[in-house]
Amino acid sequence: AEENLRHAQKMETVGQLTGGIAHDFNNLLQIVTGNLEIIGRNLPAEPARLHRSLDHAMTGARRAATLTQRLLAFARQQPLAPRRLEPNRLVAGMSELLHRTLGETIEIETVEAARLWPVEADPNQLENAILNLAINARDAMPEGGKLTIETSNAWMDEAAARHAELPAGQYVVLSVSDTGSGMDEATIGRAFEPFFTTKEVGRGTGLGLSMVYGFVRQSGGHVKIYSEPGHGTSVKIFLPRFVGPAEAEDEADSAPAPEAG
Ligand code: ADP
Repeated sequence: AEENLRHAQKMETVGQLTGGIAHDFNNLLQIVTGNLEIIGRNLPAEPARLHRSLDHAMTGARRAATLTQRLLAFARQQPLAPRRLEPNRLVAGMSELLHRTLGETIEIETVEAARLWPVEADPNQLENAILNLAINARDAMPEGGKLTIETSNAWMDEAAARHAELPAGQYVVLSVSDTGSGMDEATIGRAFEPFFTTKEVGRGTGLGLSMVYGFVRQSGGHVKIYSEPGHGTSVKIFLPRFVGPAEAEDEADSAPAPEAG
C-alpha cells in the first residue's frame, strides 16, 4: 500500500512537471515546424541535399511533436470514471484500432474466455492501458510477430494476494503477450518507473507501463510482467470481479480457474 502511495505521489509530481514543460515545448515546436514548412515551400529545387536536410529536420520535429502530445496526454490524466464493463466486449471493440496500430507484419489473436466475469473499471483508461501494452509489443517486434490478447477468470490465492497487496478472491485476467525481444531481469525491475525507457531518444517516453500500473492499482487490481530475453513478453492485468446485484445470486458461473497471480 505504501508503495502504491509513493507511486501515486511520484506520478502526480511527474504529471505536473511534465505538463508545464510539454505545453511550452509544444508551442516552440509549432514555431519550428511552421517555419520549416515555409522554408520548404520557398526553397529552389537545387541543391537536392538541402531538401534532404529539410526533410530530416521536419521528421525530427514531427517526432518531437508526437512525443510532446503523449506527454501532454499523460499530464492531463482524467480522473477515473469506473463502471461495470465486459472485458471481452471492450477488447473486441479495439480490433480495428489494434490492427491499425500494429501494422501488417504483426498477427493479432484474441482468446476470449467464455462466461468471463465483468469488472468495474474506467473503460477509456482500460482501453488506453491495452493500447500502451500493444504499442510496447509492436516496438519489441520490429521484424513482425504475434500479439495475443487473452482473457480469463482467475482465483487469486492467499499467497499471490499477499504478494500483490490485494484481497484474495476472484479476478479477471487480461494478458497481452508478444513474441518479441523480451526483457532481462533489470529491465523488468524498472519497467514501471516513470521515465524508464530503453528506447532511443524520441521513441519512448518511459511512461507507458507507469500509466498502466497507476491505472490498474487505482482500479483495485494488479499487473505483472512475465518475460524472457529472446522469448517474448506477457503482461497480465488482474482486475477484481465486479459483483453487483445482477451477479450476486448467480453462482453457477463462478467456478474458480486454477490460474493465480
Ligand atoms: P516506453 O515504451 O516509452 O519505453 P514503457 O514504460 O511503456 O515506456 O516501457 C518501459 C520499458 O520496458 C521499455 O523501454 C522497454 O525496455 C520495456 N518493455 C516494455 N514492454 C515491453 C515488451 N512488450 N517487450 C520488451 N520490452 C518491453
